[in-house]
Amino acid sequence: WAPFAASVAKFAEHQWQAGPIINGEVRTETKQGFDVKAPYDRREAVGHVAFADAEIAAEAISVAEQAYPEWSTRPASERAVCIQRLADLLEDNLGELVALCHREAGKTIQDSIDEVREAVDFCRYYADQASVNFSQPKAVTGFDGNVKQISYQGRGVFTCISPWNFPLAIFLGQVSAALVAGNTVVAKPAEQTSLIAFRAIEMMLEAGVPAGAVQLVPGRGREVGAPLTSDVRITGVAFTGSTETAQAINRSLAARDCAPVPFIAETGGQNAMIVDSTALPEQVVRDVVRSSFASAGQRCSALRVLFIQQDIADRVISLIKGAMAELSVGRPQLHSTDVGPVIDLTARNKLMTHIQSLKNQAKLVAQAKLDDSCQHGDFVAPTAFEIPSIDVLKNENFGPILHIVRFKASELDQVIDQINNTGFGLTMGVHSRNERTYTHIERRARVGNCYINRDQVGAVVGVQPFGGQGLSGTGPKAGGPHYLYRFTKDVVEA
Ligand code: NAD
Repeated sequence: WAPFAASVAKFAEHQWQAGPIINGEVRTETKQGFDVKAPYDRREAVGHVAFADAEIAAEAISVAEQAYPEWSTRPASERAVCIQRLADLLEDNLGELVALCHREAGKTIQDSIDEVREAVDFCRYYADQASVNFSQPKAVTGFDGNVKQISYQGRGVFTCISPWNFPLAIFLGQVSAALVAGNTVVAKPAEQTSLIAFRAIEMMLEAGVPAGAVQLVPGRGREVGAPLTSDVRITGVAFTGSTETAQAINRSLAARDCAPVPFIAETGGQNAMIVDSTALPEQVVRDVVRSSFASAGQRCSALRVLFIQQDIADRVISLIKGAMAELSVGRPQLHSTDVGPVIDLTARNKLMTHIQSLKNQAKLVAQAKLDDSCQHGDFVAPTAFEIPSIDVLKNENFGPILHIVRFKASELDQVIDQINNTGFGLTMGVHSRNERTYTHIERRARVGNCYINRDQVGAVVGVQPFGGQGLSGTGPKAGGPHYLYRFTKDVVEA
């Protein structure tokens, strides 16, 4: 941690500049732009981004289309070498990237370190997978004994659209997957975190990815993201973000007068945890607090609704109150900080409106304190409510707010069904020392990732792939063995 705190100090005054990168050329003179301010202190300028518009987006698609024949016919192992070199460059520039992630996205230093490391893991994993699986045609023997060769090729121009909450890892995960699979890419990062995406694309070009193969078009979703999904030249879309935006993109793709294309969507959740009376209360509380409030609740996997069996509810709730009183909320550069800011004022206002509306219809369990250092940033105090039913919640609340529901032992199946009936299916947590109970919950729940007797945080590239079902995403899971294939078409050589 200490060397990274030093990097953050070294880059404390640095101002980053970014803009669209089209065919390797940076455009700084565009019609619109965005001054980036640190989420933990809006008086601190971080840099400036020149935003693209629909015209630049169309130009980006043309450049990527022209580059496709050359890039897609390179051996997969050659494409993979470029992405491995990118991973090396990310590691060489770890200090700057940690500082940038911390200042632009307001992440704690530890979260920023984890972010860059996960980006490196994605690049290395997809590069390895492409080399192993796509370099040579695969021989398949049919029932008749005949052998055919199957080869995997890119599909064309992929649009990659990413969110701000993992501004480097998700952004580079999508782009590197699309590239190693043989596609050319037009990448649109979230407007709040375009600076770090810009640095990543600069490094990608330095790593040897040809200028035509990857285009960066920073800008607002409706102005730049939308044209990147309505254009008939796009042959696939990889998207991570909210369910509402995924639905808008789905409609946009369906309205095109051309062949359907793959749409890989990783979206929001209404993640629950079920705790039965055999669970260890102290362990439950440690995992609940981390699952709900780590990264200021801005992880897609974060716990939103905690179901506690009536018999141990009073004890667990009282321990949660105690733990929340000790949470340190404040400047994310301090080692002692548990919870930093949310991404921006819009996010803060949305969360505060939700807290206010629940104060009128639910029981406030606890609210952590904000210290004086929070007054110039976009902070939301971690808050827990007891609510009568999960039905009170209509949308995902993407921040540090925990909702608690009590249930009786006889109601376990109803609880699982209520969670399933939200339509979301991203993560689920279970705390129980009864193997039959947790196995039953795991089987009946419709979720992508189920966490048993542990916190509900995270994924591990290559080992614990991540993704949802239903309103939470299409699959295949990111960081898993099937993900890359979705970016390819398979050709059988008879
Ligand atoms: P968002 O949907 O607001 O934005 C995501 C991206 O879509 C941004 O780049 C945005 O500019 C773009 N966009 C917005 N409107 C668009 C349109 N009409 N056409 C094309 N692009 C458009 O989401 P966000 O606030 O950036 O991210 C938070 C959300 O992401 C949460 O819902 C969270 O659960 C989800 N998320 C999911 C996962 C997962 O793996 N399932 C991972 C991270 C985040």
